[in-house]
Amino acid sequence: MAVTTPQFTDKTEDQAAITEMVRQFVDEQVLPNAEHYDHADEFPAPIVEQMKELGLFGVTIPEEYGGMGLDLTTYTMIVEELARGWISISGIINTHFIGAYLLMQFGTEEQKAKYLPQMATGELRASFSLSEPEAGSDVQAIKSTAKKVEDGMWEINGQKMWVTNGLMSGLCFVLVKTDVTADPAFKGMTCFIAEKDAGVHENTGANKGLNVPPLIKKMGYKGVESTELVFDGYRCPAENILGGEEAGVGEGFIQMMDALEVGRVNVAARGVGIAQRALELALRYSQERKTFGKPIAQHQAIQFKLADMATQVDAARLMTLRAARMKDNGERSDLEAGMAKLFASEAGYFCVEQCFRIHGGYGYSKEYEVERLYRDVPLLLIGEGTSEIQRMVIGKKLLQRHKI
Ligand SMILES: Cc1cc2nc3c(=O)[nH]c(=O)nc-3n(C[C@H](O)[C@H](O)[C@H](O)COP(=O)(O)OP(=O)(O)OC[C@H]3O[C@@H](n4cnc5c(N)ncnc54)[C@H](O)[C@@H]3O)c2cc1C
Repeated sequence: MAVTTPQFTDKTEDQAAITEMVRQFVDEQVLPNAEHYDHADEFPAPIVEQMKELGLFGVTIPEEYGGMGLDLTTYTMIVEELARGWISISGIINTHFIGAYLLMQFGTEEQKAKYLPQMATGELRASFSLSEPEAGSDVQAIKSTAKKVEDGMWEINGQKMWVTNGLMSGLCFVLVKTDVTADPAFKGMTCFIAEKDAGVHENTGANKGLNVPPLIKKMGYKGVESTELVFDGYRCPAENILGGEEAGVGEGFIQMMDALEVGRVNVAARGVGIAQRALELALRYSQERKTFGKPIAQHQAIQFKLADMATQVDAARLMTLRAARMKDNGERSDLEAGMAKLFASEAGYFCVEQCFRIHGGYGYSKEYEVERLYRDVPLLLIGEGTSEIQRMVIGKKLLQRHKI
């Protein structure tokens, strides 16, 4: 139960049509089923099948490769709608979108032709992997390596951590060190397109040497799996170096950081979506629940919470759309993407907490949707750079732009 609120739109007709379609899908298919998949911590396969049918895995992939060829702004609007339903659903798209971006931006023609058509339909889904057990924020401290062996193949060894879609994906864009002596370290890092068997813990045949240990157990963000990946003598052909061997070796860090910039806009959109849902739930509950003879929405303390929530939702949405539009216009948007990610993820956290407080004891019950939101939302403060790291990025970019 929730109350829908009109949103600042400024959408083209196409954007309005597609977001309306996604909202309907979320209202009819995601929201009524999220509780089941969340409680069972089960991969929502039927929902993913419907997402494939709607073309949601190919939103930003060019039409020549079978996608919709839409811009980041429209994608952002779609992600907000999906996250409003359940952030795990947006998580299934999220890493796939980053993989597609890496290919579109840096892939060779052969790599694009080989992977993008299957990715556009969602038959082939992608994950991306930077983090390791001992390195998250400090990406240059990763330890996984790849070295070229006699037959021209590259052998990858090392352990990766927190790979969203790590089991169900058929491709993983993985960052490793190809020159451990490089100084600075980022110049010795390369991104490999690692093929794997989707849904399989122990790969065999051409993909042997890549294993997925039992899934990491989490407080929220259920249904979508987070995994370790163990590379143990996994062999990757040179043509699977992102951008090709000649152009791609040593470029992985720069490629991944570029992708993280759009990834941050994507996480910001998820923050807006979950904040919007928290507002809707709070508006409904506060008008139904009575204390001291009147609906709690009539108490000023509760109205102030609603006011702060609505203000944060609007501001987060505007910042997110601005960052996306700047990127679409070819403008530099690193600062704006960092600010949007920081603000919108914190707004998501703030709004969910306010919604929880407004629900009183019932917010603590699994009978109410806000309990799921409360377990899901903290991820947004961590993934694709923590709030502390965003502040570091914002500070650095600010000083670069305003050097005296
Ligand atoms: C559910 C989930 C899904 C994820 N999915 C993926 C994925 O698909 N692919 C992937 O590669 N990674 C993924 N991650 C990993 C995520 O990106 C990292 O957890 C994140 O970057 C933080 O790294 P860390 O956990 O190692 O924390 P650390 O880097 O160890 O940081 C610990 C704390 O110290 C702070 N800190 C660190 N450095 C500084 C500094 N210089 N100044 C101030 N404070 C600092 C951090 O902000 C944080 O509060 C996922 C994580 C989660 C929880």
